[in-house]
Amino acid sequence: MSKKSTSKKAETVRVVVRCRPMDQKEIKDGHERIVEMDVNRGVIMIKNPKGLSTEPPKDFTFDAVYDWDSKQTDLYEETFRDLVQSVIEGFNGTIFAYGQTGTGKTYTMQGDKNNAEKRGVIPNSFEHIFQHISRSENQQYLIRASYLEIYQEDIRDLLSKDHTRKLELKERPDTGVYVKDLSSFVTNSVKEIEQVMHKGNSNRAVGSTNMNEHSSRSHAIFIITIECSEIGADGENHIRVGRLNLVDLAGSERQSKTGATGDRLREATKINLSLSALCNVIAALVNDKSTHIPYRDAKLTRLLQDSLGGNAKTVMVANIGPASYNYDESLSTLRYANSAKNIKNKPKINEDPKDALLREFQEEIARLKADLNHKGGPKKRRKGKKIRRNADGEVVSGSDEESDDNDEGFTGNNSEDEAEYRREQESKLEEQKNAILSNQTMIQEEKDRILQEITDREEKLKKEQEARDGLAAKIKAMESKLLMGGKNIVDHTNEQQRALEQRRKEIADQKKLEREIQQKLEEKEESAVEMQDTYNSMQHEVEIKTKKLKKLFAKLQSTKAEIMDLQEEHSKERQELEQTQMELTRDLKLKMLIIENFIPVEDKTKVMSRAVYDEDEDMWKLKPLANKNTQTMAKRPTSALGNRRPVSEYARVAAAMGGNPRFKGENILMVELDMPNRTTRDYDGPQVAPRIQAALDAALQDEADIEIEGQTPSIFSTKAKNRKRDVKSARPRTGKRDASKEFPSSRGLVPK
Ligand code: ADP
Ligand code: MG
Repeated sequence: MSKKSTSKKAETVRVVVRCRPMDQKEIKDGHERIVEMDVNRGVIMIKNPKGLSTEPPKDFTFDAVYDWDSKQTDLYEETFRDLVQSVIEGFNGTIFAYGQTGTGKTYTMQGDKNNAEKRGVIPNSFEHIFQHISRSENQQYLIRASYLEIYQEDIRDLLSKDHTRKLELKERPDTGVYVKDLSSFVTNSVKEIEQVMHKGNSNRAVGSTNMNEHSSRSHAIFIITIECSEIGADGENHIRVGRLNLVDLAGSERQSKTGATGDRLREATKINLSLSALCNVIAALVNDKSTHIPYRDAKLTRLLQDSLGGNAKTVMVANIGPASYNYDESLSTLRYANSAKNIKNKPKINEDPKDALLREFQEEIARLKADLNHKGGPKKRRKGKKIRRNADGEVVSGSDEESDDNDEGFTGNNSEDEAEYRREQESKLEEQKNAILSNQTMIQEEKDRILQEITDREEKLKKEQEARDGLAAKIKAMESKLLMGGKNIVDHTNEQQRALEQRRKEIADQKKLEREIQQKLEEKEESAVEMQDTYNSMQHEVEIKTKKLKKLFAKLQSTKAEIMDLQEEHSKERQELEQTQMELTRDLKLKMLIIENFIPVEDKTKVMSRAVYDEDEDMWKLKPLANKNTQTMAKRPTSALGNRRPVSEYARVAAAMGGNPRFKGENILMVELDMPNRTTRDYDGPQVAPRIQAALDAALQDEADIEIEGQTPSIFSTKAKNRKRDVKSARPRTGKRDASKEFPSSRGLVPK
């Protein structure tokens, strides 16, 4: 293992609660505040607005509580500073902000970027880290930042160009779980790392139609990696790596999934998967009986596995709102935070891990310098080995422009030597040139040739020089990323400010200590109540016992109420889960129905046997048919065993029964289609009663058509006959045309 343990003390997760002030709307609507806080004792009390007036408020004790008047710096100094300091020293640290949407998670983590006083823990930690480095001595630092988001169980890199791409979680036995291809930016000032943060924040907003909705359903993790190298007592160079995860969790309120079915239901269940997995992990961690911690259930818990019961120091900030209509959510947040208090971590300093980027930087710089110096003269090998990409992230150096102030490391001595060497070479060439030009005895041809040679050499010299400059610039660029106290970063704070900072820290420490003592005292008092058993008189005994009884009775009542509450909550949760399960089962049944009725059994079995579940990507995959190792393609699968093509059961039986050539392997003999039985009839126009038809026919003849027997005016008659034919062909064929045959018209004059 690469990690050496330096401090093995187990410590619990630090949990603090913060309640935001009432907002304008809540004040306007006249909402009641149901939260009381005792900042000095770290106690928070919450009253049930629907409960009886006799119902006592529920109280919870935490490492610290911050009320509506709390300042961002209070939180930082008292709660976060120590953690960040530990990360600088090489521990892993995590800060979670948990709570209902709109209760101040983002405010606590990010704060108001335009107001220095309202800056959250992330920007405050930047300030802290770089200030520490600027005051350090004989240490070299490398600071990297990454920013990612988990939305509907997809991990997205908020710093890459394509922030819609989904990233995968990978696991390595030595370094644990990491996000593959996550970009990380090496930064060397507060300003640079702030830019990185702003870029990530703006990418978070892009692509979501409703930013609020999106941020309340996604988890944002800002990661700062701090690497520090220092010569140890053994005279060797040692590197410590601390990693700080700053996590703005999704809103903890239940996503309502009323009426959601199918895809929408799945979405609703997926959104909070990471959050409920987080709850389950915490529950499992604090339950002595549980043997399995379900880290693998969600991306968030896998990624932050170390922060929960592992190698990290963790602070959880539970955010709540003060108003009565938030009672249920606030209470559940407090309960949740209360259980998280008991998680035990085992933080240790990560010393000399294999994947320290700082070491690679140092080695690369040393190599480049050797390249530059050792070969005496200039050299062409410009393209050296590039910085190896770190396993857990692409390394992108920030700005490449050089600051032209300090150029330490690339020593002045060397560059002077170089310059001299160059000047020497140049003047030599110049001399030769002049000598040739002034030489009268040489033939022109010879002169030209030698001059050309000299120009070539000059050219070569110039190129070499360029290569060297490039190398030097590269060294300078790399060195500018390594931070050293007092050199790369100018600390602008003066003595007075430092003293002030020191004082603030002392006050914060003092407060913390006082609170701890107070809490311990209360605990002791409580147990002392039971111990006291010497009484002055009967009266006294009764009094004390009554007091004791009252106290215990109140405690019993509140415990009973708590049990009832929890039972109710559990049964509600259970019902919801059962409903979800029912709907999913129904969904599954439909899928099974489709599969069983429309997919051939062999195909189903084949697909089933090829399907494997990919834990990393959280999806089913089909194993490839070809065997990659042997390089030979697998034989083409036969789709229908013993037949040339898939054959239906009917055809198989028919072929066996009657020997009908249609069902032979080849259909050479009969190629026409096998028509199904006809189920339709030809169109038959509307039926017209024969009588009416006859009447119609009669009516359609004009008077002129009428032939009167005995009268045979030849011209008239021919004309009439012709007309008659015309009429007949123009008339639509409406049914019985021979109606006249069956029912001679009354006049009996219609010709055939
Ligand atoms: P969340 O991230 O939990 O959804 P936000 O951080 O966005 O909540 O906070 C919601 C609103 O409340 C914001 O306008 C924020 O400025 C304000 N707010 C939250 N906490 C505080 C606080 N402690 N003091 C002042 N304003 C706060
Ligand atoms: Mg938020």
